[in-house]
Amino acid sequence: MKVPKLFNNWKIFESNLGFAPSETIKIKLDKYYKILLAENAKYNLTRITSEKEVYEKHFLDSLLFTKEHKLSNEKIIDIGTGPGFPGIVLKIFFPEIEITLIDSNNKKVNFLNILIEKLNLKKITAKHVRAEELARIENEHYDIVISRAVAYLDVILELGVRFTKIEGKVILLKGPKADEEILNSKNIAEKLKVTLTAKQILKDTGFGERINLFYTKTKSTPDLYPREYARIVKESGK
Ligand code: SAM
Repeated sequence: MKVPKLFNNWKIFESNLGFAPSETIKIKLDKYYKILLAENAKYNLTRITSEKEVYEKHFLDSLLFTKEHKLSNEKIIDIGTGPGFPGIVLKIFFPEIEITLIDSNNKKVNFLNILIEKLNLKKITAKHVRAEELARIENEHYDIVISRAVAYLDVILELGVRFTKIEGKVILLKGPKADEEILNSKNIAEKLKVTLTAKQILKDTGFGERINLFYTKTKSTPDLYPREYARIVKESGK
């Protein structure tokens, strides 16, 4: 296997986040990258494998929203985390959070458990489960629901909203088409009792435009939601 040359453009983290990662964090990210490459050679975890792209488009992108919403010791769930984005990266940068990572793909969950052990991460759990099933069990368990690149906005709102407490946040890391998704998801957002309370537009990340959406849950989720996955997708505004 080719030994990767490890990342040194930490300035891009500093310019986007307003601080430079500590040496401990850099070492953990380097380890994460090496394990990701090694496991990705055995089964497909991510299409993006070049050092620059993984550090910028996966690691840094996972963190951009924290400029708008500072994390402290919140209880968080990351839906459809895949190989750990944003959840593992958040845990590395903000060890005080308590985080649950879920994914419907067992290979990805096995990978997450390897990472959790090798990076010696604490207050973190990886579960192989579908969001729409766990949501009814973990109703209003979390301060924050977060998700990146899992589904169109109306679908991910429906999958996620039940997990959060009233006044809790659903934070969705989106690309440049977020405005169109907001429009197409207005009706379901009302039914789900969530309101868009902030929108973070990032035009100069150095790796493309990003838009992060912050919804606040105003009331308990009506019993009907989330519906079965096939039904949610069938009625999606996409
Ligand atoms: N969040 C990661 C990222 O930003 O790179 C992974 C995104 S990947 C495109 C979508 C992930 O969501 C996949 O790993 C898939 O297995 C998972 N997923 C899709 N639907 C899901 C559901 N209903 N419940 C849990 N996980 C789901």
